[in-house]
Amino acid sequence: MTAITTLPGQPHIAYAGDQLHVEGLRLSDLARVHGTPLFVYSKAAMLSALAAYQRGFAGRQAQICYAMKANSSLAILQVFADAGCGFDIVSGGELARVLAAGGDPAKVIFSGVGKTRHEMKQALQVGIGCFNVESEAELDVLSAVAVDLGKVAPVSLRVNPNVDPKTHPYISTGLKGNKFGIAHEDALRAYRHAASLPGLKVVGIDCHIGSQITDSTPYLDAMDRVLDLVADVESAGIPIHHIDFGGGLGINYNGDTPPEADALWAQLLAKLDARGYGQRQLMIEPGRSLVGNAGVCLTEVLYLKPGEQKNFCIVDAAMNDLPRPAMYQAFHQIVPVTPRSGDGKVYDVVGPVCESGDWIGRDRQLLVQAGDVLAVLSAGAYCMSMASNYNTRGRAAEILVDGTKAHLIRQRESAFDTFALEQLV
Ligand SMILES: *Cc1c(COP(=O)(O)O)cnc(C)c1O
Repeated sequence: MTAITTLPGQPHIAYAGDQLHVEGLRLSDLARVHGTPLFVYSKAAMLSALAAYQRGFAGRQAQICYAMKANSSLAILQVFADAGCGFDIVSGGELARVLAAGGDPAKVIFSGVGKTRHEMKQALQVGIGCFNVESEAELDVLSAVAVDLGKVAPVSLRVNPNVDPKTHPYISTGLKGNKFGIAHEDALRAYRHAASLPGLKVVGIDCHIGSQITDSTPYLDAMDRVLDLVADVESAGIPIHHIDFGGGLGINYNGDTPPEADALWAQLLAKLDARGYGQRQLMIEPGRSLVGNAGVCLTEVLYLKPGEQKNFCIVDAAMNDLPRPAMYQAFHQIVPVTPRSGDGKVYDVVGPVCESGDWIGRDRQLLVQAGDVLAVLSAGAYCMSMASNYNTRGRAAEILVDGTKAHLIRQRESAFDTFALEQLV
């Protein structure tokens, strides 16, 4: 028997003996066959993250809409569509992806502060489930676009419950002073306005207070604020068919201990029941918590560069592949796929991009040599979907592991691919 050591929060990514596996496959083999940088995802990990939400909502009317900006690769969308999920989208491009992946447009929610007329039209033509509208000005434009098409747009208003999710300022969205949502005190007026417009049908209310939330309190507070508004809006004679609580549940990056989705929803449903809303149609929009800990990014050590103040471990993945550290000072664990025995040294793990912000991990204890492959953990969310071609680096390939099968779901981009749409004058 080989010893199996799972990594915290990621049961489908484990050392068996001295080899890191995703499900039944050795990551060292995948790196050798497909090259690096390489994203590798576990299908079972995604489905088990989804199952926690499904358990939480057993016996309720609830629609889970995967917030696909977390990872919008077609095969990932296919996994969630096949499992019955709808999608939370933020652009017409994301809508095109949902359709290409076989998703049901009737289960799509269109979020975002800046939808264009063109995007609204595209969404109305395919019959999306709901527009989550974020301003009164957007209500007017959406109504006009719908009237022009001879359609009625189903709308929900994204309200800003003004609670602090205590997360990074760039991923906190439900506070006054954020660009998102309609202020609590303006919401009733906005609902009256929406109900008066010919091209709109009010169907719901929604909020989304932020991301990487590791505590249930902000959710419970936001729910109270949203339910207060539902009561006010309905007493003004405007029925609210569904209540959408957004996404935002955090994952374990570095010892973070967010509640499990089913435990969080047990608490939230108890509040909904106590306030008499437990039998309403519920919607949620989780992104990170469905995919974040299902993926790793494999990267090869190119050079070790000792220094007076710092030792650098230079790898072939960079900020264009893994933008979260540069953007949010985010932490990703970094582990060898085939550990060596010994103590190693403390390194800053950095990429080849010409920016001092191009680091992947700082002050990491590693025992490595050039040619070793490292796995950057918790790389399933907001990595590939935010990847760029900066420094004319082609984007990485992606593998979806299902048991002992590796599906290549995205080919590595070549340099030519990165400038294929450009022209000389
Ligand atoms: C980004 C986003 C989500 C998903 O957030 P996660 O933190 O990834 O769960 C859900 N709803 C809206 C409106 C979003 O913008």
